[in-house]
Amino acid sequence: MSGGRNTVQKELVLQTVSAMHSHPTAEEVHDRIIQSYPSIGKATVYRNLNTLAENGKICRVAMPDGADCYDHRTDGHYHIRCVSCRKVFDAGFPFMPELTERAGREEPGFLLTGHTLLFEGICPDCQRTGGFSGMGEEQETKEKQQSNTKGENTNG
Ligand SMILES: [Zn+2]
Ligand SMILES: [Zn+2]
Repeated sequence: MSGGRNTVQKELVLQTVSAMHSHPTAEEVHDRIIQSYPSIGKATVYRNLNTLAENGKICRVAMPDGADCYDHRTDGHYHIRCVSCRKVFDAGFPFMPELTERAGREEPGFLLTGHTLLFEGICPDCQRTGGFSGMGEEQETKEKQQSNTKGENTNG
């Protein structure tokens, strides 16, 4: 087995994830790569993402629904997902390694090895463009209309 081509492909996948900064899914990584290297197959990209994650070169961020994301940052940090556009952002909120230890003391039967935390909300972009009409409409629309004092005239 010569590792030449494999190494090149792995490096390419790693560079793509690093360049994207957007916690891409495997599919998004593949989409990006084939723009420059149309001959690289999905399986190759997926396999390399797996290997890179296993080797700790990138992180796999599991999403409760939908496809896992990949992260070039391997330090401990939390994520925020926009419930509107579904983009995943890095949270500035400090990582709390002690949370695992604390939880471990409460769960004597388990050997806890880590934790993940996913915040949910609406990203600045979606707040600006108001593109978050999908959630909690009944209550929120009413409040929004009442608090919308920007003086926009809506002659029914
Ligand atoms: Zn958003
Ligand atoms: Zn991240």
